[in-house]
Amino acid sequence: MRIATYFSGGLRQVGTVSADGQSITPLALTPQQAERGVLAIIELLNEGHALPEAGGAPIPVSDVTLDAPIPTPRRNVWCVGRNYHAHAKELQASVFKDNDANPESWPIVFTKVPDCVVGPFDDIQLPVGVSDQIDYEAELMVIIGKGGKNISRADAMGHVWGYTVVNDVTARDVQMRHQQWDMGKSFDTFCPTGPWAVTADELDGTRTRVRCWVNGELRQDGPTENMIFDIPALIETVSRGITLFPGDMIATGTPAGVGMGLKPPRYLQAGDVVRVEIDGIGAIENKFV
Ligand code: MG
Repeated sequence: MRIATYFSGGLRQVGTVSADGQSITPLALTPQQAERGVLAIIELLNEGHALPEAGGAPIPVSDVTLDAPIPTPRRNVWCVGRNYHAHAKELQASVFKDNDANPESWPIVFTKVPDCVVGPFDDIQLPVGVSDQIDYEAELMVIIGKGGKNISRADAMGHVWGYTVVNDVTARDVQMRHQQWDMGKSFDTFCPTGPWAVTADELDGTRTRVRCWVNGELRQDGPTENMIFDIPALIETVSRGITLFPGDMIATGTPAGVGMGLKPPRYLQAGDVVRVEIDGIGAIENKFV
């Protein structure tokens, strides 16, 4: 099942997406439920309700404005740094420590503030005067369905409701300046997600492919099998002593090919368009302005 949050007729709505990705069937939700996007659906299903009935006829995706699946996350988005072997290698000369060099190490975990989440085709605002090293990071985002604490590796995949696409947009200079990464990762509009959520029964996130293009040039192309810490390890890690809630999201790290890793580095400029696509989900595309 694919579920989208979108604007139609000036209202935020939630609907199921057809298998070909061409049409959306609105679901019968109250306006208050629809404001919460896919999170409302996750919670209804958790409470034992059936999927809400159709609230109207299918409409072409091209007639709506797609929004982030969960437009206002209830709290920060969990993120994992340096989680693909080749990406860890491309940044090993930077100030960031190399996960891959030490098999005893733990994942690098940071967060993005919930307010930086925007829709799959929204513009990204370059923070002019604050940073001139803006970079892209194409990533698979895990959406938690069933909450829990101290979730074991063996149980972890049972807590995954589904997946979406995220670009973990990053200001490299600010990321390095503050030791902690949250500031360089959390500028307004720095977390485009979508184009919709795909449920875990339809996509195996542990075996898919993440790609990124900048102005049509392929920059990143990595299989999720190449994660250093796999999805069960990430869920086990972030739930250690911390309760995960339905709708919590975990950005699982980016493959090699970020702008910082190129020689010389190539950062994003006004007018650049970044497309992130994941097999089995779809693509998001954002212009930097
Ligand atoms: Mg990232």
